[in-house]
Amino acid sequence: MVVFVYDGGVLVYKYIKGERRYLFLKGKGHLDLPKGHIERGETSLEAAIRETFEETGMRVSPDRYFKHRVYFWYVEGGDKVKTELTMYLAKASNGAKVRVTEHSGYVWLTYGQVTGSAVFKNERDLIIAADTYIDKREALDRINAEYAALPRKFKGWNLSTKFVPGEGPADASIMVIGQAPGKNEDMQGRPFVGASGKLLEHLLRLAGLRREQVYITSVVQFFPPRNRQPTNDEIKACSDYLAKQISTIKPKLIVLLGAIAANEVAGKVGVMQMHGSLFKGKYFVTLHPAAAVRLKKNMPLIEEDFRKLKKVIAWQQSSKQSRLELKQK
Ligand code: URA
Repeated sequence: MVVFVYDGGVLVYKYIKGERRYLFLKGKGHLDLPKGHIERGETSLEAAIRETFEETGMRVSPDRYFKHRVYFWYVEGGDKVKTELTMYLAKASNGAKVRVTEHSGYVWLTYGQVTGSAVFKNERDLIIAADTYIDKREALDRINAEYAALPRKFKGWNLSTKFVPGEGPADASIMVIGQAPGKNEDMQGRPFVGASGKLLEHLLRLAGLRREQVYITSVVQFFPPRNRQPTNDEIKACSDYLAKQISTIKPKLIVLLGAIAANEVAGKVGVMQMHGSLFKGKYFVTLHPAAAVRLKKNMPLIEEDFRKLKKVIAWQQSSKQSRLELKQK
C-alpha cells in the first residue's frame, strides 16, 4: 500500500561570530531537521512551528515568504510511505538556546559543512535555496535601510518621509511595479493596500497568481502628498534604489503598472500601444489599476491584460521546461 504523509518543518539559522549557521538535530546516525506530521486541523506552517518548539524548545517565527517542498519515500511495515515536507525558514536570535527532547543533541552547521555532504541531498538542496534566499533578503534590507534615510539627505524633500518597503519573496520570479504609494499605503507602511491594491489582487488572480507569490513595489516608495504624480527629480532620486532592488531579486518577468513604471524601467514605452504583451523578453506593461478604479471603462482592458499575463507566464514556464527537456536528451 502507498501512504501519503504531509509534514512541516523549519530550517532555523543564526549568526555565530558573524557566520551564518543552520540548526541540525542529531538523530540515529544521521542529522535531522525539526519537522513532524501535520495534525488534524493544522496547516503545515502551524505544524512546523509546533514541532520546532517541541523538539528544540524554541519559539520561532518563520519568514513570511520562504517555502521549500521536499519529497521522499521510505518503507514502513511493508507500506511505501510518500512524504511531502514543507520547510519554512526562521532566524533564531543570538541568545536563543536549544533544548532537544527527542534527539541526542544538535549542531549549528555552516553552508560549507552542509553542502560538503553532511546531510541528505534533499536537505542540501534546501540549504542552497535557503542560503541564496537569505542573501537576497539581507541585500534588500540593506538597500531599504539606505533608501528609507533618503528624506534626511535630500534638500527640499516634498514627499512623505515614511518609507513604504516592497513586499514579497526576495527571490520572486515575478515583480510588479507601480507608481508611488497612496494615502492608505503611507498610513500602513505597505504597498498596494488601498483601492488599487484590492483591484491588483483581483487582477493577479486572473493571471493565476496570489499576492504573496510576487514582489510588489513602486517606482517611488514615498507618498506624494495629495496623490500628485512624483516629479522627474523625485523619480531620479529613487531610481538607483529600484534598479538595485530589481538586480537583487532578479525576476524573470516584470509587470509595469502605468506609464511612470513603464518609462522608468523599460525605457520610453507607449502604454496604450504596448499593453498586454511581453517585450524585451521580460517586461509586461499594463495600465495602473488606479486608472480602472477611477474610470470603469478601463476595467475590461486591464482585466484582459492580466488574462494575457497568465498565458505569458505559462509560456515562460513551458519554454523553460522544454529547454530543460532538450538539455536532458
Ligand atoms: N499605487 C502605487 O503605484 N503604489 C502603491 O504602493 C499603491 C498604489
